[in-house]
Amino acid sequence: MIDPTRADRAAGAVVGSAVGDALGAPFEFGPAGAFGTRFPAPGAGGEMCGGGGWDPGEATDDTQMAVHLGESLLERGGLDLPDVFDRFRRWACDQPKDIGLQTEAVLTADLPWDLAAAIHFQTNLRAAGNGSLMRAATAAVRFAPAGRDATMDAARRIAALTHGDRAAWEGTAIQHELVRVALAGRDPIAALPATLDAVHPDHRERYATVLAPDWHPELATEFNGAVWPCLGSAVWALRTTGGFEDALRAAVDLGGDTDTVAAVTGALAGAVYGLGAVPERWTAPLHVPLPGGGGRTLHLADLVGLAERLAAG
Ligand SMILES: [Mg+2]
Repeated sequence: MIDPTRADRAAGAVVGSAVGDALGAPFEFGPAGAFGTRFPAPGAGGEMCGGGGWDPGEATDDTQMAVHLGESLLERGGLDLPDVFDRFRRWACDQPKDIGLQTEAVLTADLPWDLAAAIHFQTNLRAAGNGSLMRAATAAVRFAPAGRDATMDAARRIAALTHGDRAAWEGTAIQHELVRVALAGRDPIAALPATLDAVHPDHRERYATVLAPDWHPELATEFNGAVWPCLGSAVWALRTTGGFEDALRAAVDLGGDTDTVAAVTGALAGAVYGLGAVPERWTAPLHVPLPGGGGRTLHLADLVGLAERLAAG
């Protein structure tokens, strides 16, 4: 395989995540193995099938939030947290087809950007969903040139807009760092020990467990809508396969929160293998209706352009 360029990897991360989201959406909350039963032969086609209220190739909230985040980073020339929160809020109030429970509670609470998630966490005590992990691709591309610490710090701050639980911040920070490593042409799996060293000590052990070479999604102690098994499953899918398509098939076939597990997997696998490895029959029907975005629907060229501008800084 030709070594992808950095631009191809950046586009791969953003488009790969969107493709995973759209591929997994019709199988959300379904059982493990449903995808492989329906599409037993890799490469046979028809996998971008739609269903469950989703058109074939239609991306969900995971990608919609990643696009709003990426557009804020571009238009504000960097991380403007109140602006990101405003865009998320406009999106949440524009009737997205799907929205995470916790994200919805925080964004519709009519509280200031820097208090909404923390207050929600204080009252509910459970805020370690995968909702900040799922939207990481665009910011990961944007902050990668700034290095590990700046990347992980930005990831934590963006995660904290909707998730008050530090567990979600740390998982999102790990995902950003693994994408950063991959964009540089290095192996994110080999970078796991060093990445874990940079995780907050209170959360290191739990991530070390789900990111260990012998961990398997069946060992998860929570539903994969939680941040730990979601990230662990994505890394497992990358580790145990040899290409973009197989990694995504493995992710969707885990069942459960399939769109998000596959979106997280797609960001990683896309950064590793590049846009050139994402099947054209998956990118052709891909589209991202964008609530809160003035009635726009993004297609492949729009996502590639977004990734290119984010990679350029
Ligand atoms: Mg979704």
